[in-house]
Amino acid sequence: MAAIPEQEKAHHLRQLLQEASYAYYALDQPIMEDAVYDQLYRELATLEADYPDLITPDSPTQRVGERPASQFVSVTHGTPLYSLENAFSWSDMVAWRDRWQRYWRSNQGDLPEDRSYGCELKIDGAALALTYENGCLVRGATRGDGITGEDITSNVRTIRSIPLRLNLREPPPLLEIRGEAFLPLDVFHQINRDRQDQGDPLFANPRNATAGTLRQLDSQIVSQRQLDFFAYTLHGPKGFLLSLETQIQCLEALKQMGFRVNPHWQHCSTLEVIQAYYDRWQTDRLSLPYLTDGVVIKLNAMHLQEGLGFTQKFPRWAIAWKYEPEQAITQVLNISVNVGRTGALTPVAELKPVQLAGTTVARATLHNGDRLAQLDLHIGDTVVIHKAGEIIPEVLRVFPELRPQDACSFQLPDHCPECHEPVVQPKDEAVSRCINTDCPAIVRGAIVHWVSRDALDIDGMGEKLVRQLVVTGLVHTPADLYGLTLEELAGLERMGQKSAANVFNAIDRSRERPWSRVLYGLGIRHVGVVNAQLLSETFPSAPSLAQAEQGAIAQIHGIGPEIAQSVYQWFRIPRHQHLIQSLEKAGLTLATASPGLSQTPEIDPTLRGKTFVITGTLPTLSRDEAKNLIQNHGGNVSDSVSKKTNYLVVGEKAGSKLKKATTLGITCLNETELLEMLR
Ligand code: NAD
Repeated sequence: MAAIPEQEKAHHLRQLLQEASYAYYALDQPIMEDAVYDQLYRELATLEADYPDLITPDSPTQRVGERPASQFVSVTHGTPLYSLENAFSWSDMVAWRDRWQRYWRSNQGDLPEDRSYGCELKIDGAALALTYENGCLVRGATRGDGITGEDITSNVRTIRSIPLRLNLREPPPLLEIRGEAFLPLDVFHQINRDRQDQGDPLFANPRNATAGTLRQLDSQIVSQRQLDFFAYTLHGPKGFLLSLETQIQCLEALKQMGFRVNPHWQHCSTLEVIQAYYDRWQTDRLSLPYLTDGVVIKLNAMHLQEGLGFTQKFPRWAIAWKYEPEQAITQVLNISVNVGRTGALTPVAELKPVQLAGTTVARATLHNGDRLAQLDLHIGDTVVIHKAGEIIPEVLRVFPELRPQDACSFQLPDHCPECHEPVVQPKDEAVSRCINTDCPAIVRGAIVHWVSRDALDIDGMGEKLVRQLVVTGLVHTPADLYGLTLEELAGLERMGQKSAANVFNAIDRSRERPWSRVLYGLGIRHVGVVNAQLLSETFPSAPSLAQAEQGAIAQIHGIGPEIAQSVYQWFRIPRHQHLIQSLEKAGLTLATASPGLSQTPEIDPTLRGKTFVITGTLPTLSRDEAKNLIQNHGGNVSDSVSKKTNYLVVGEKAGSKLKKATTLGITCLNETELLEMLR
């Protein structure tokens, strides 16, 4: 694929970053995730390093922050407020260490013995510069573009953790304290709930809420918002600073003066120790009552900091190691089409492999043809992919600006890529389906589902083995598994006698699985684990369910009309009737033995009065199933997220409801957690 010309690419990257920067700094309304901004920034920086002629003075790589667009009086900072260079990996950290050491050797000579680091949490808020004259607070300013900020003294005075007078017996005539103002998470959530009540737009995150609050014209409002502040550095007359020889001594001095200093700093002797600190906080940060977006590593010795100085934008003696993001940018190398067990055709983006939340991602779902069209995705496009929790990565956004000239568009095929039969797209559905019941993909999918953990749980039978069994023609339906001989299994590729015997025994043991799991294993549309259990409680055998009227099925507490119709129709298809007979002949359990199982579940009083909202596609439960389940256990289900919502149940492709719930601090559950709760 021909690459987009460098000059054009640099121009588009600059434009994208400038728009994002303005929205982020000046308007406090970000238009992209930080991780996406960071990666686009890196692409531009790499391009500019390779082609220095492409650098323009207004490039985001040459500037700090953004000139504020506000009504406050401008302030020129005595010493600029620099940004921090970012590291995203261990190798970035090694490169940074080598860089500062090389710089030191060329400019200062031999490396000193103490090369240890002071590590701090990177608080996700807004930088403040506080000026104290003879120990009294006279000015508080935002960072702005690093050179010029805004005078927000009256707002700063409302922050209770900022002393109006320093606790110093002999304060110097002038002292500047720098640190991060932030909003504790509970305060942030409360602010958003209040804004929702008043119909005001919600803040996207605590950082934006902090920056927005600091720029409030009414200090009364600022005072109510309960901003907090952690101090991390100070600038003052040489004589005063002489006694402070290390970064850590600075933190201790700030504490003495009456500031809050984040207590989680650590003195680290090597990069390995830093890695352990970073790893610990990558997890432990979730239990902090405020947000952090990485750790900041600073050379501990002050004389090292002074000797290394600053680049145009960053101190050479410090770096921010950002936490692993949940979004990344990469390129689409191809688009393939996956056919699932229900025949649904899912377009899948084949990606240039990229690290995301601890794993290498090479494929991301595009969901369906409608989504593909909506994204206007071309092969060759630069895209943002996203991964949250257990969910399969998905393509969130396309950058058409960065599209190579020979990028080609893609349309879902009108024939199944597996069996080449025409596909259909039912009216009102976004999904195209192959409806050929003999399609190898559908046959394989049915068997993979049958052997899965929640169904018949056949140990040792993975997708590869199922594929072989289907290709060789040994298995066409789940019932065929029970006719396999030990010799047939042992004759398969890469299957020793011992493994064959293990699989053979696992298949045999699965005959004892209860009727509810067999029912789930049949893969009837809308019948997940919970519905199978509910159905088997009222209809304790396959014949009783097969003969049941649709209305009788719909009578079950928790089973809606859509599910009842799907079950009823499934049993009317001769092929399915034949499957049930074959399973019976094979000795599967098609009836509930224990009468105890036919009791209806007890109502869980803890869900009483709790309001749930469901968003996205859940892995096994349909919307109706999930809703009925919650209601059967005493909970309410609402369509929209508000501050009255107690839980948001999140499935794949969750959209704005998830975003809103996060900003309101509502607890999110996945399907497993919901089921756990109901148990
Ligand atoms: P930064 O936020 O990455 O790092 C510098 C800042 O870290 C300092 O100004 C300081 O305020 C803060 N900080 C917190 N704890 C600290 C500590 N213990 N010691 C020292 N400093 C500490 O840099 P930046 O220049 O403010 O912003 C660049 C970042 O902002 C980008 O990496 C990006 O993630 C984000 N950004 C996002 C968008 C967007 O559209 N989402 C746009 C522009 C910038």
